[in-house]
Amino acid sequence: MKNCSVVIIGGGITGLSTAYYLGKSHIRDVVVIEKSYIGSGSTGRCGTGIRQQFTTKEHIVLMRESVKLWQEWEEEFPLPIYFRQGGYLWLLENEEEVKEYSEYVSLQNRLGVQSRIITKEDVKEIVPQINTNGITAATWCPTDGNAYPFAVISALKLAIEQMGIEIRTFEEVTDINLKNGVIKSVLTNKETYNTDLVVNAAGFGAKKICHMVGIDIPTENYPHEITVSEPMDIFLSPMVVRGELYFTQTHNGRIIGGTDSHRPPGDSLSSTLNFLEKYSKEIINTMPILSSVKIMRQWAGFYVVTPDHHPILGPTEISNFILGCGYSGHGFMLGPIVGKLVSSYIHNRQMFLKEANNLDLDRFKEGRLLEEKAVIG
Ligand SMILES: Cc1cc2nc3c(=O)[nH]c(=O)nc-3n(C[C@H](O)[C@H](O)[C@H](O)COP(=O)(O)OP(=O)(O)OC[C@H]3O[C@@H](n4cnc5c(N)ncnc54)[C@H](O)[C@@H]3O)c2cc1C
Repeated sequence: MKNCSVVIIGGGITGLSTAYYLGKSHIRDVVVIEKSYIGSGSTGRCGTGIRQQFTTKEHIVLMRESVKLWQEWEEEFPLPIYFRQGGYLWLLENEEEVKEYSEYVSLQNRLGVQSRIITKEDVKEIVPQINTNGITAATWCPTDGNAYPFAVISALKLAIEQMGIEIRTFEEVTDINLKNGVIKSVLTNKETYNTDLVVNAAGFGAKKICHMVGIDIPTENYPHEITVSEPMDIFLSPMVVRGELYFTQTHNGRIIGGTDSHRPPGDSLSSTLNFLEKYSKEIINTMPILSSVKIMRQWAGFYVVTPDHHPILGPTEISNFILGCGYSGHGFMLGPIVGKLVSSYIHNRQMFLKEANNLDLDRFKEGRLLEEKAVIG
């Protein structure tokens, strides 16, 4: 039996970022519990992308603030995280798309994000290797970018442990005990933790954790596949997006990218030929010089999807049970701001960004759905 102030369930970017900001604000009597190795969930399987080009004020404001924190992380962490602001180049195929995305760009600009509509010729200037046949225009945000997930996880781990916070790996939360509607302890396959507060950052396991305390969340786990190529000389800085396709080049020269192969929720994390064929066709059409490049690895991870494609953040009907889950494919980039929001909520029971209040669990039963339209992959 152990005692601690906060138990964080999940050793992905949400759990570790929350622990980091708790530690920075001198709450260090915290235990992070991860059932496998850190980063083994969606975080270590993601596409590295960090963007502010979203379609709702909630996502745009949170990501605008998250990008500032990514910049801070690059400076303040004891290890490199390879955060790079190479931009997001979003290719648009017809006038209808241009009209729709112009509205999103206007909203982004009003909220302080420097995105803009650019011409086909501008696209060629930014990435000469793109085949612009079939492209009408693009959106471009130079301050979007990417970071290397395993480096981020390693840097967070070191920073957290230096603050004296314990990370328990290969330990699974199996049950949660309540008394008079309040959580008293968290049970794992190895230990019992008496605690004042629990953060559910369990990603694909978040729904199961909620069920342990009698709460249901409207999330479904959709498998999404992704690949990485052999390394080559660096030539591509932005994340390129076209329809369901996205790809960029990592700091070590590999092309990382994916597309949506429309697999049903709950499906396994197997790799499929269907995905590989679709991805290969789409990427070669968009960048023909990649046709001779070898794919080295293909894998899958879960998008934990909510009905409005926004995360579920903050309080629940149980006063000491807090949620950070349901990112619908955007949780890596949101990691810094979510960690800071959840940590400060633990301190003063308030979200310091008012837009974050709209991401509460109650929005589903109260019909306050938001609907993000720019979901990739
Ligand atoms: C193919 C793919 C591409 C993606 N690309 C991007 C991208 O470019 N940009 C972006 O922002 N996002 C992207 N995402 C989404 C992103 O990966 C996730 O939203 C994000 O990593 C979620 O982080 P997390 O910490 O909340 O969850 P996770 O990283 O999944 O961490 C949750 C952890 O909880 C642990 N856990 C679960 N149940 C228990 C339990 N009972 N006890 C203890 N531990 C438990 C799990 O083992 C896991 O490690 C992508 C996802 C996929 C699959």
